[in-house]
Order: sequence, then C-alpha cells, then structure tokens
Amino acid sequence: MKSKKLTLNFNEKNKEPSLEELKAEASRCLNCPKPNCKANCPISNEIPSFIAAFKNEDYEKAYSILMENTCFPDICSIVCPHEKQCMGHCVRGIKGEPINIPAIERKIAELHKDSLEKVASSTHKFAAVGSGPASLAFALKLASKGHKVVIYEKENYIGGVLKWGIPSFRLPKEKLDKYVSKLNKLGVEFVLNHKIDDKHPLDELIKEYEGVFVGVGAPNSNKMKVPGEDLKGVYHTNSFLSKVNLQDGENRELDECGSSVLVVGGGNAAMDAARVAVRLPQVEKVTVVYRRSENEMPACKAELEEAKAEGVEFKTLTNPVAFLGKDKVEKVECAQMELGEPDDSGRRRPVESNKAYVFIDATTVVLALGFSNDFELNNSIFKLETDKWGVIQVNEENETSIKNVFAGGDATRGASTVVNAMKDGINAAKAVLKRLGE
Ligand SMILES: Cc1cc2nc3c(=O)[nH]c(=O)nc-3n(C[C@H](O)[C@H](O)[C@H](O)COP(=O)(O)OP(=O)(O)OC[C@H]3O[C@@H](n4cnc5c(N)ncnc54)[C@H](O)[C@@H]3O)c2cc1C
Repeated sequence: MKSKKLTLNFNEKNKEPSLEELKAEASRCLNCPKPNCKANCPISNEIPSFIAAFKNEDYEKAYSILMENTCFPDICSIVCPHEKQCMGHCVRGIKGEPINIPAIERKIAELHKDSLEKVASSTHKFAAVGSGPASLAFALKLASKGHKVVIYEKENYIGGVLKWGIPSFRLPKEKLDKYVSKLNKLGVEFVLNHKIDDKHPLDELIKEYEGVFVGVGAPNSNKMKVPGEDLKGVYHTNSFLSKVNLQDGENRELDECGSSVLVVGGGNAAMDAARVAVRLPQVEKVTVVYRRSENEMPACKAELEEAKAEGVEFKTLTNPVAFLGKDKVEKVECAQMELGEPDDSGRRRPVESNKAYVFIDATTVVLALGFSNDFELNNSIFKLETDKWGVIQVNEENETSIKNVFAGGDATRGASTVVNAMKDGINAAKAVLKRLGE
C-alpha cells in the first residue's frame, strides 16, 4: 500500500475531459426515441435534449434544459450512482462505452455564468430544519423566486452529509461552497448550532413561518450488537468520517487511529471510510470485511475498484463477532461465512460456516453498517406521523401529517441518495409555490 499511498491526498482532482473531447462524446448520443438514460434518472433529466444543445454549442440552452429538473448539477454529476442510473442504461453501453453523461452535465454547469441574483423581496417566510441537500434544494427554489428562507442547522457547518460524509477527493468542497454562496446572495439565512428539539420546538417554527421543511436526514448509525463494540477505537462511520472530513487541506490527521484500520460493511460509506483511512499518514493497512461476497456488495463498482487500486484489502464472507482489547480495540474476531438462501432483499443470506473463526489485528475499527432514522426526534418530539422505524410519512407533495410542514430526503426515505434528497426539496418547494399561486 505504501508506494501507492505517496500519490494520494484529500484534494486530488480527477482529470476532466476537454470541451472538444466532450463535444465528440456528445456526437455519439443516438438521441433514442425512448431514452433509457432519462427513464432511469430519478429526476427524469432531459438528457438527450441537453446533450443535443451542447453538441450544437448552444450552451445556455443546454443549461436551461438541464435546470428544468435539477438545482445542483455540479454535485449530482459527481455523486450520483451513474452506473445504476443514466449511464448504466445508455444504449451505447451495450456494445461499447456508454456516453459520459455526467462529464457533459458538469461542463454545461461550468460554462454557465450566473447573473446577479435578486435578494429576497417577498414577505413570505419559510424555514428549513437541517442544511443537507434536501433543505438546500427547498431553500434554493423558494429563494430564487424572491421568498425569504431561514435554515436551522444543529451543527456549526452547512451541507449535512455533503460536508461531513462524502470525502473531498470525491466531492471537492468548492462545489458545495458555490451553492452556499448562491444561497447567501439570494438572502437565505443560516442559523447554525441550532438544534430543533424540545428546547427549540418545531411548533415555534410552525407558528412563525408560512411553511416549514424538515430535512433532518437519517442520522443514527446502525449498531453491530456484538461484544466490545463500545471499546475505544471502535467508531461508527459518521464519527470517523467527520473527524477527518471536517479538516481542511491536502493532508489530514487522526493520530489516535494507529496503523491498521478495519472497516466493516460493503456499501459506499464503507468505501469512503476505507479510502479516507488509506490517506491518513500513520495508516499502513486498511482491510474491509464484508459478510457476503463481492457480488452482493451494495457499493458502486467504481468506488470498489478505486478502493482496491488504492491498496485497500478485502475479506469477503467474513463477519465480526467480537471486538477484543483491554482499553482499546486490538483485535477483531470474525466468523467465516457462506451464502444460504436469498433473504427479503433478494440477496443470499450470509450464514456462519462450520464455526470457523479468524482473528484480525486492528488499531481502529469503523462500523459502516448503514443509517436509520431518529424515531424519537421525528415522531415523539416533532409529532409527525412516521412508520415504526421513524421514517416521516409524506404525501405526493412531500407534505407531512401537519399542514404546511413538508419533509424530504433521508428523513422520509431512510438512507437514500443526494439526487433523491434534492428531488424532494424541489417537490416541496413547488407545492409551496403552487399554494402561493406562482
Ligand atoms: C459516507 C456517505 C457517503 C455517501 N455517498 C453518497 C454518494 O456518493 N452519492 C449519493 O447520492 N449519496 C451518497 N450518500 C447518501 C447521501 O449523502 C444522503 O442520501 C443525503 O445527504 C441525504 O440528504 P438529506 O438532506 O436528507 O440529509 P443529510 O445530508 O443527512 O442532512 C441532514 C442535516 O440535518 C441536520 N439536522 C439533523 N437533525 C437536526 C435538528 N433536530 N435540528 C437542526 N438540524 C438538524 C444535520 O446536522 C444535517 O446537516 C452518502 C452517505 C454517506 C453517509
């Protein structure tokens, strides 16, 4: 891992294709009469139309087509799981390479120069709880129409998972800063370090504002429920990633981490944790253990390949049963697994194979086992209708059980994606605008 490690840092930039290369790429689009790319885009972007305008060098037209359904093209073009969405269904991909749709999207967004935005002028006032992509999209849509929006955020930074979770070598933070600065120019107010809870109740916001959007995400890290989980050195993804991702600069530190990191899980958050760990100066070995086989891993293929190329080792069909150590974790006892019958998810269920166990040394363990909603907050404190897991229930306008209180993103879907969070924020804002007769 060491030789590869020398070239890795937290601010690496992927090489972007040139404008000429992208125009050539756009010329490969077959403009399918029933475009699969659009059908598999969660926000139904008019992909062939913006590609055609781009090919004809009508960049402003391409931008306005693109912006019909999105508001964060620079971000979605990087973080969307394109292999499962637009690119994964591009007809060109059947016999060769699919069109590089995200790179074209990114270039269109980059070529557009925002004109001076008008600051909030209407007397209508709205609030959003949380500053993740769902709330930011809600605020952007309303503020662009001149309405006042105030965002209440419990942390001292803006962006939710875009800031603490997705590492800067995947999503350069200037992409987020661009939208925060746009929101500021539009007069959106951010109230940081302000948690909406029983001390600052949602009811007060409901009384003060014409509408409230709840975008509190799915903040609870799932637990493994095995002995030793509370030992020092055993982290959940959010505490590990935020300690590193909230630092600035090419090089970051987490001294307490030691030299060998073991990540548990097979999703994108696990890949992010492993790729962050690889970049820490004192870390010499990073191992991902996953209880199923590689075929069942939910992580994007590209992420998995990047992690492997960076020197992360994978032990599949391996599942921790105990974390061992005196004061701090030192070793992880893992059961060897095999695949049984398919479970509810359709994937074959992992079962322990013949009581075979291995021990893996680790100075740090990161549990990347997914995220759940906060039942207590959403149901008991906010008094919103939820399901038994705390997922807020909404109608087709993203309105909750309380009139003029909207919700979206992970708060209403369980752990999902940035594009879905943005879609919900836009949808709720459209419902508000409709009620205002706009
Ligand atoms: C490590 C990681 C990597 C990911 N990578 C990708 C990816 O590559 N692509 C992708 O599409 N998706 C990815 N996701 C998922 C994606 O980031 C989320 O689906 C998305 O951020 C959800 O947006 P949201 O606005 O609903 O919530 P969040 O982004 O979670 O934002 C919620 C905000 O609400 C604030 N908040 C919570 N409670 C309160 C309160 N009571 N009062 C005030 N503020 C509050 C939080 O502090 C936070 O800022 C990833 C997730 C993780 C964890």
